[in-house]
Amino acid sequence: MDINITKSQNSKISEVDYENLGFCKYYSDHMFLCDYNNGSWKNFRIKPFEDLSLSPACTTLHYGQTIFEGLKAYRDNDGKILIFRPEKNSERFNKSAERMCMPTIPENIFINSIEELLKVDHNWVPEGEENSLYIRPISFALDPYIGIRPADNYTFMIICGMAGGYYSEPVNVKIETKYTRAVTGGVGFSKTAANYAAALYPAVIAQKDGYHQLIWTDGKSHEFVEESGTMNLFFVIENKLVTPPLGDTVLDGVTRDSIIQLSKLLKIDVEVRKVSVSEVISTLQNGSMKEAFGAGTAATIAPIKLIGYKNKNYNLPQITENSISNTLLNKLNDIKFGRDMKELNWLKTISL
Ligand SMILES: *Cc1c(COP(=O)(O)O)cnc(C)c1O
Repeated sequence: MDINITKSQNSKISEVDYENLGFCKYYSDHMFLCDYNNGSWKNFRIKPFEDLSLSPACTTLHYGQTIFEGLKAYRDNDGKILIFRPEKNSERFNKSAERMCMPTIPENIFINSIEELLKVDHNWVPEGEENSLYIRPISFALDPYIGIRPADNYTFMIICGMAGGYYSEPVNVKIETKYTRAVTGGVGFSKTAANYAAALYPAVIAQKDGYHQLIWTDGKSHEFVEESGTMNLFFVIENKLVTPPLGDTVLDGVTRDSIIQLSKLLKIDVEVRKVSVSEVISTLQNGSMKEAFGAGTAATIAPIKLIGYKNKNYNLPQITENSISNTLLNKLNDIKFGRDMKELNWLKTISL
């Protein structure tokens, strides 16, 4: 794969406040791009991070034919750069692409592009406890055509932003039973823009009522829980870890899959099954619901401290050192930074 590299003449890295990285407050100096036309990906290039130029008729702006991914690069104690299960993101990117009538990208192009960009921007992978560089691949339609049909021309590109290691304070979530994130036959499993735009309005309403996030329920009966915000959802009921099954309304999270595999190895009882709203409420009431948390790349694990349903709030017990969510969070962090369970082969080292 031949990549044309144009280096930035004025690095912005000296502007970074490492005490206050936040999430993608600082984009790295470069971005990767390539073009799709006449049926193939070409013109691979890395250039300084800058604005794009698009036709105002570009179909993405009108009809949202666009998909994205999110993964992270970590720096281990020896200074090596590691990425976590990128082949899972590649696979999911292509599932999203197919659903949106967009061209797929061969896994070697997807992963090589990330690798080459990280080589150029290697000094942007921060050191420090649980810090990382968030990698955001996106693909979008380019055709300047105001008519609805799959476009012929696309861009695939990658940008990166620094992410501080953050401990997610336990959050308040509301079980949403009016608005819908995803329906059977729809695009819920795809990381495509429409899902996130449609989720904004109900989330804003819930935020006015003091909730940080929503728990989405199925779009048909609103009787079964599916996801929490943009994270997959887990409960600890009695001593079992329980998570709803995938299917076309739930995003197939890499963190979710890693938690399920890891739990089996750690001899934590894990069940993938439907969870009804009434089970959530009754187990909260009778005390058998011990923990609830969201799982995703950004926070890894975000514990839930309160669940709201029909104008009533139910508290969860406080997280302790020995909570399952805490055990899994520490273990996953150790794995991602190459400190534990290397035999899982979940890390790809970027050779500089
Ligand atoms: C990205 C995402 C997730 C989490 O996926 P990870 O691969 O673990 O980051 C879960 N739900 C939704 C809706 C998402 O967009």
